[in-house]
Amino acid sequence: MKKIIIIGITLLCLVGGFILYKHNNSKPIDPPSNNVNNEPSEPSIYDSYNDDEIKYLNELMGLKYYDESKIDRYLNYMENDKYSYEQIIRIVNTNNDLEYFKDAVPANVDDDILILVNKYNVLPEDYVPFDLKKVNTNYSYWGELRGEAADAFLTMVTAASKEGLKIINTSPYRSYDLQSRLYNNYVKDDGVKAADKYSARPGFSEHQTGLSTDVVTPTSTLNTFKNTKEFTWMQENSYKYGFILRYGKDMEYITGYNYEPWHYRYVGIEAAKTIYENDLTFEEYYYYYVKGKV
Ligand SMILES: [Zn+2]
Repeated sequence: MKKIIIIGITLLCLVGGFILYKHNNSKPIDPPSNNVNNEPSEPSIYDSYNDDEIKYLNELMGLKYYDESKIDRYLNYMENDKYSYEQIIRIVNTNNDLEYFKDAVPANVDDDILILVNKYNVLPEDYVPFDLKKVNTNYSYWGELRGEAADAFLTMVTAASKEGLKIINTSPYRSYDLQSRLYNNYVKDDGVKAADKYSARPGFSEHQTGLSTDVVTPTSTLNTFKNTKEFTWMQENSYKYGFILRYGKDMEYITGYNYEPWHYRYVGIEAAKTIYENDLTFEEYYYYYVKGKV
C-alpha cells in the first residue's frame, strides 16, 4: 500500500512538473499562421483579428522595427492607399498617427543633446539652455548655441573653409518669445495651416533647444542654400561633426515639416553617424536608440 502511495505521488509530481515546464516554455505570443490542419493552438493575441487583418499584420511583421504593442494603431492604416507598409511603421512608431500639438507631451530635457522637440514634444515657456555660447562671428550673423554645439559648429565650418567653402549661421537659439513673434507673423501672412508646415509654434521649436542652426552662404538665402556647393558639402560631411539635416526631403509625414535644406541639428557625432548610415529621421533615432523601444 505504502509503495502504491509513493508511486502515486511520484507520478503526480512528474505530471505537475511537466505541465509547469510546458507553461514556462510556451511562447507568450504566437505569430499568426494559416492553420490549415485545424489543429488546436494556444491562445494568441492575433486570435481577435480577422483574416484580412492577420494578412496585413503578417506583411508588417516581416519589417524591421515592427512593434507588437502597436498593432491596433497599425491597423488604423490598413485601408489607406497613401503609405507603404514601411511608412506605416515609421508613422506609428514615431507617434505621427496622433494629433499635432493636442497630443503633445513635455519634451524630456534630461535627454540633453538628444532631446526631441517636435509637434508632439513641447518645451516649457521658460526653458533656456544653461550653457549658451556665442557662435564664432567669422561664421555667424548673430546669436548663440549650446556650448558643445557652438564648438562643433566652428570645427565643422572651419573644415569646410579649408575647401574654400563658407557656411554661416543665420538663425541659432531662439527664445520662446522670439519664436512667438515669428510664428504669429507667419500666421498673419499665410494662415495657420501653411505656417505650421514651415514654422514652429512657440515651445515646439527646435531652435529653443540651442542645438539647431539655419545656415546660408555669403551669397545664398535659406531658400537658395540647396543650390550651393556648401549644401553638397554639408550633405556629405555634417554628420562627421555631429550635425544632421533635420527636416529631410519627403519626410514631412514623420518630421512634421517641409524639407529644409538649411536647418541642421546638433546631436553629437555618434548619433549623427548612426542616423546618417541608417537613413533615419531624428524622430526614429530617438524612439529606437534613445528610448530603446522596439
Ligand atoms: Zn530652423
